[in-house]
Order: sequence, then structure tokens, then C-alpha cells
Amino acid sequence: LSPVPSDIEISRAQSPKAVDVLAKEIGLLTDEIEIYGQTKAKVRLSLLERLKDQPDGKYVLVAGITPTPLGEGKSTVTIGLVQALTAHLNINSFACLRQPSQGPTFGVKGGAAGGGYAQVIPMEEFNLHLTGDIHAITAANNLLAAAIDARILHESTQSDKALYNRLVPVVNGVRGFSPIQFARLRRLGINKTDPGTLTEQEISKFVRLDIDPSTITWQRVVDTNDRFLRKITVGQANTEKGFVRQAQFDIAVASEIMAILALTNSLEDMKERLGKMVVANDKKGEPVTAEDLGVTGALAVLMKDAIKPTLMQTLEGTPVFVHAGPFANIAHGNSSVLADKIALKLVGEKGFVVTEAGFGADIGMEKFFNIKCRASGLVPSVVVLVATVRALKMHGGGPNVTAGAPLKKEYTEENLQLVADGCCNLQKQIQITQLFGVPVVVALNVFKTDSPAEIDLVCEIAKQSGAFDAVPCNHWSDGGRGAVKLAQAVEKAANQKKSFKYLYSLELPIVEKIRIIAQKVYGAQDIELSPAAQSQIDRYTRQGFGDLPICMAKTHLSLSHQPERKGVPTGFILPISDVRASIGAGFIYPLVGTMSTMPGLPTRPCFYDIDLDPVTEQVKGLF
Ligand code: ADP
Repeated sequence: LSPVPSDIEISRAQSPKAVDVLAKEIGLLTDEIEIYGQTKAKVRLSLLERLKDQPDGKYVLVAGITPTPLGEGKSTVTIGLVQALTAHLNINSFACLRQPSQGPTFGVKGGAAGGGYAQVIPMEEFNLHLTGDIHAITAANNLLAAAIDARILHESTQSDKALYNRLVPVVNGVRGFSPIQFARLRRLGINKTDPGTLTEQEISKFVRLDIDPSTITWQRVVDTNDRFLRKITVGQANTEKGFVRQAQFDIAVASEIMAILALTNSLEDMKERLGKMVVANDKKGEPVTAEDLGVTGALAVLMKDAIKPTLMQTLEGTPVFVHAGPFANIAHGNSSVLADKIALKLVGEKGFVVTEAGFGADIGMEKFFNIKCRASGLVPSVVVLVATVRALKMHGGGPNVTAGAPLKKEYTEENLQLVADGCCNLQKQIQITQLFGVPVVVALNVFKTDSPAEIDLVCEIAKQSGAFDAVPCNHWSDGGRGAVKLAQAVEKAANQKKSFKYLYSLELPIVEKIRIIAQKVYGAQDIELSPAAQSQIDRYTRQGFGDLPICMAKTHLSLSHQPERKGVPTGFILPISDVRASIGAGFIYPLVGTMSTMPGLPTRPCFYDIDLDPVTEQVKGLF
């Protein structure tokens, strides 16, 4: 239709097929799906075993140029591309997307189901609770947080003996260790199996984690943009006996448990990673883990359904996995390894799996290659780099683009100079992609205000800058039909020779790895470490965590650390203010500048427009 109706109107106008019909179409067996309502189903991991001898399809990553705060259409391109491949070119394909956080859905950006005629439907189910994975992560994360503070309190108020009696209770007349406690005893070098034979010293060593409260790095989380939780004080009730400390909440999608969900390869692997998460140091400076707190099994139980990807469909009835949902600025920003692996089997050798990395290629894609591909062992065939005329104009010196405000005339009228000047950002993001040796196809996501001359100019510059091809895409207004040229270009590029390589070797010192990302990817002159960052790096190196990949927490609005610097900033020194470690997920996590791990709400958040019709139960105002 023209004009294109709102995302939710389009979504509602199409009746999705029943999810069991979709599951059958793509070759799933009845006992491999768990149906949630009529349009969503979780897919069991047993499928991977059944299809283990089946060759993988081609693996395509959708990344983007440095975006405006409005988003440039990576999700929309991802959906448009699979609609074009499956529904128009008859090639099996799957889209693998992240589950949206309710922070942006009710905050600034709105939902993330794509848009126009390239969407996942029903979009309200996709954007709201889905199948509860983020709630499960929140529950697991906060159980661990509660376990830390409670343990400090109990250790302070009880003798060794009393703690021992509580931790190793007598059941039916017998005192017995649990498997987790046996494992802890072994880690402490106490090779005893009879709880009655521990010496007083051994009991003390066993029951006291001696957590140093000032070193706790595990934070509570909630999936709301609640800026007032950025710094909080916990333990103020009298019952907590003065164990007051400053803490913070992070947005749930920044939880290490979300990162684990995205990077894990199996249930066993997830359990092991959950146990390895380091939450603090003890008073001797040694790491304290979730396993030390005895909570690994409970966390795995809370996450046992979340580990299964959720099957949904596009507007044109093609299959989609929605799984994991970390932000690419404050986390690694990629959907799950498991969803990609299952989809690669299901599409068959000639098929395509299209997955998406958050924000610009400098952050989402860099982490996709250096972190996610290392975790999965998968190698992508093609990168699709999404660009828009509006973002390029912004990089060329156009006025600020702000969510909720109408676009200025520079963005609604032809302006070839601004486009030409802004293409420096596109060129740089193409060069970043080439560092990894994978062919890149530029997808120009066309808006109705783009002029033919502007579209031609971008595609020309992209091709001159080393892109394998550059194609205008009209899937937002025309559905899969509008992305057929992109699908054909991707198919061709996938047959090109590629020589995939990581950007850095894991054996390099942490500081060197950070410097390589800063200089080669962001274009920084150098990095500058705060004293806190340096001492954390020293500590992690001493604790044996120095050979992990790096997950930078950096603004997505600039290649540099300063969001207002557009285009291709040069000559800047990248400030590393702090460094954390996600040992279970398997990365070191430097914070660049003043990055916050809890977003805030704007003056007029998206929730102003969201409403429910009590008669029809229809959701209104989501986009
Ligand atoms: P990203 O994944 O890059 O953050 P999205 O695909 O979520 O971006 O798109 C951001 C918003 O822009 C969505 O609301 C979407 O409907 C809208 N949008 C995307 N492409 C177009 C287009 N070509 N014309 C108009 N609106 C678009």
C-alpha cells in the first residue's frame, strides 16, 4: 500500500500461519518443538544431534554504517533479504534475530521486528515478552546477586561450625556434601569425602568465601531504562546489620548471562560457563565464582528453556529464529550461536542463514568476528553493510538527527554534497569489514525522500571503495520483492573466495588487543588507560584471564568515543575508563569513556503512544 501503513497495522493485517505448520514446512519433527500460543515455538537442541551430518548452508552477516539514533534498518534489511531469498528466489533461508529489550521498546527507538513490509509477525509478541527468555535471565542474574550479599552477611554473623552445619546439613541422620560442594572441596585441595573428617582449618577454608565487598562486579539487572538505578545503596534495613554498600543496576540485556546465552554451544557448555562467572574477589585477591556460591545448578534450571531458540515468521511466511538480545554498545550485540547453528543445518547446503550484528560494523561486526565466530567456529560467507542516505548526510555535516523530532530539510530534499561528504563513513566501514577478509555487499536502504541521484552516488562510491556490489533496496515499501537484487548480489558474493581472519591473536597482552581494535577499527591515534583500568588489567592477567577476546563498551553513534564526532574522526586518544571481565561468557570488557550500562528514558518516551484496547485486547502504538 502507498503510503505504507504503520508497522503494527501491517503486522496485524497479515494472518500468520500456525507455528506447527511452519515447523513442518522447514523439516522439524513434532517432538522437536514446544509451542507457545499459536505463532511461537521453542525448538529443542536435540535437532542438532539429528542433523549433525547435514552440511551447513551459507552464513551471511548484516552489519551497518555508524547509525543515527533512529537506526538505519539492519533488522529491516535482514528480514527483506530472507523474504527475497525464500519467497521470491525459492532459496531456503532463515533470519536469526535478537530479542528486543523492553528498554528501547518503551524508551527511544521502539521495537526491533524490522519495519514496513519487512517484519517479523506478530510484531507485538516479538517486541514484548516473547517466550520469556529475558525474564529468565533477569531471574537468574538477580538470584546470583542475592546470593552474594546474603553470603557475606551469613559469613559475618556465624561461626565456622555453625556455617558448616547449615551448608552441609544432616538429612535422615547423615551429613552429606552435594556435587557442587565436592567440586569446591577439590578446588581447595581437600580430597575428603566424609563430611565428618574435615579438620577445623579445612572447615574454615570450605565455608568462608571471604568476599571483599569492594570488589563485587556482579550487578542486579532489570529490563527497563531506569536511570535512577545507575547508582544505588543496598542493605539499608536494620536486618542487614550495617552491610550497606553502593551498587548499581544494569539493563538486563547487558547481563553476562545474556552473553552466555548468545555464545553457548550446548546445555553442558552453558552450565559450565554459568559456574565460571566471576562475581568478586576474596580478601586475598582470588576470584570468587558462581560455582563457589553453590548456585550454578539453580542458574541452569532457570535458563533451561531460554537456551532453546524461538521460531517465528516474517510477513511473507519465511522462518525466523529469535534468540538472545544483547546491545552491541555495552555488550557483544549478537544473536545466539545456537540459533545460527540450527538454522544452518535446516536450510541445507544451498540455503542461506542471515544473522545480524548490532549498530555499526565497528562494534557489532567486530565483536561478531572476534568473539562470536571464535565461540562458534563458524565463518561467514558475506557481510551485508546497511547504509542510508540520511545517516550519510549526517556524517557529511548535516544537522543532528534526534528521535521524536521531525527531520530537517537537509534530510528531506536532495543534497548530493552532504551525501558525498558523508560517504567517508561508509568507506571506512567497508575497510573495517575487509580487515576480516570477507566480501562485502552494501545494501542502501531506500527511504521515500531519497533522490535517484543520491542513490546512484552512494552505490557508485561504495563500489569504488571495494564493495563487491552495492544495491538499493526497497523491501520496506515493497517487501521481499524490493530486495531481490540484494539477494542476487549476496548469492554471487557468497561464491567468492574468502580468506577469513581474526583481527588479533588471543595470546597478545590485553592492552595490545585493546590498542589493535582502537587503532585498526576505530581509527584512534592511541589508547589511554585510567589507573583503575590498568590495575584491573593487571589483576585479570595475574588471575590467568589474559588470553580472552575483547568486548569494547563504546558509543555506537561515532567511530570514536565522542558521539557528536561524525564521519571518520581522526587523531583521538581512546580513553579506557575501566575494565571488567565476563569469564563465563569469555571476554574482557573495557569501558570506553563514560559508557553507562543502564540507559535512561527521554522526555517523551515511546510508552506515551502505547495503549491497549480493552475490548479487542489489541496493542496500539508499538512501532
Ligand atoms: P536497525 O536494525 O538498524 O536498528 P531497524 O531495522 O530496526 O534498524 O529500523 C529502524 C526503524 O526505521 C524502524 O522503525 C523501521 O520501521 C524504520 N525503517 C527502516 N527502513 C525504513 C525505510 N526504508 N523507510 C522508512 N522507515 C524505515
